[in-house]
Amino acid sequence: MPARVHVVSCQDYGQPALREAVWEALESVGAGECVGAASKVLLKPNLINSMPPERAVCTHPAVVRAVAEWALQRGAQVVVADQPGYALTDDAQACFRDTGLVGALGDLPVELRLLARGGYETVALGPHHRLAEVIFANDVLAADVVVNLPKAKTHSQTLFSGAVKNMFGAIAPKQRLAIHLLGRFWALSEAIADCYSARVPELHLMDAVVAMEGLGPTQGRPVQTGFLAASSDGVALDAVTEDLLGFEPGAVATTVAAAGLELGERDLESIEVTGASRSAVRRVIQQSPVVRADLMGPLVRLVGSLVRARPKVRVDLCRGCGACAGICPAGLISVDRVARIAHETCVECFCCLEACPYDAIVVQRSPLYQTAWAVKRWLDRRAAAKER
Ligand code: SF4
Ligand code: SF4
Repeated sequence: MPARVHVVSCQDYGQPALREAVWEALESVGAGECVGAASKVLLKPNLINSMPPERAVCTHPAVVRAVAEWALQRGAQVVVADQPGYALTDDAQACFRDTGLVGALGDLPVELRLLARGGYETVALGPHHRLAEVIFANDVLAADVVVNLPKAKTHSQTLFSGAVKNMFGAIAPKQRLAIHLLGRFWALSEAIADCYSARVPELHLMDAVVAMEGLGPTQGRPVQTGFLAASSDGVALDAVTEDLLGFEPGAVATTVAAAGLELGERDLESIEVTGASRSAVRRVIQQSPVVRADLMGPLVRLVGSLVRARPKVRVDLCRGCGACAGICPAGLISVDRVARIAHETCVECFCCLEACPYDAIVVQRSPLYQTAWAVKRWLDRRAAAKER
């Protein structure tokens, strides 16, 4: 059977239209066959940090609610769980509150849970993987059905954050940090695909009603893209969403790597797309201005260290909370009233930027980086125009 993705046009998060759109998307990809009475269903939203819904950083709480209602009416037991990156500190419950989940789900018989509470288990991977093993959340491994609820976003290390990337949140925080030290675009993306392989969810629903463009995954701009999409194949869902948002086929390495591990279909010709037409929902978004140097081609490799995009602390915004120091995989950040970054061995993973609840870490791009980026964008636009 070909991979199938169902796309539903949906312009905002207001009920009841949103609920109808979510339910249509799920039912259209056979979700009802997966979820039965008494199934233990785990919903895995993207809760990267405690930003409110209007920032488009996390999966919108109205989408999570609509999926929870759908599972509950089928008689399932529902848990909503994630492990925010900055919850390497001890304030993760704030994330459920600040992202609107407590308010959205408060009247439903649904448990909100940090994945760390259930502990982690080591899962050995096969010979074709970059990683020998992953340390994966027990709650996700034990669920009868996992419903993956990614937010469609640009990403400064992986270009795009979708279904494959969202399951990275099920990895034990310490291993997530170690994986970030892999640094480079392809290596990091392959490792993320390895993580996805440890427990491939049965269902996936992409929140692209409002996506994030620019400096994702936390400091980009919300952009109304106006659709939801569902599939039982997360790789196919990512491939279709990337196409709808203007990413070149094959550009997103997490999708390529996951398909290479035979975890799903990424060839658009081989994916059956139903529902709203491509022309009705396609909206090209602005990609991240921070793309790893290894993506910018030989010119950039030649000039090497002159082409830098590095984190910088804005001392006027820093409140000294320490979240960035807690998450830096290289241990480069100290906090003495405000944060300071020792840049010498920075791997430019931007975990610190993602973790900061006050947007006090920004990206500083060297002049040559900005020039190289402008040239790359010009070349991309020229190539796209030629194609048309
Ligand atoms: S300082 Fe920030 S970007 Fe550099 S390694 Fe640490 S977390 Fe990553
Ligand atoms: S930079 Fe952000 S995360 Fe780091 S200490 Fe300052 S406010 Fe906290």
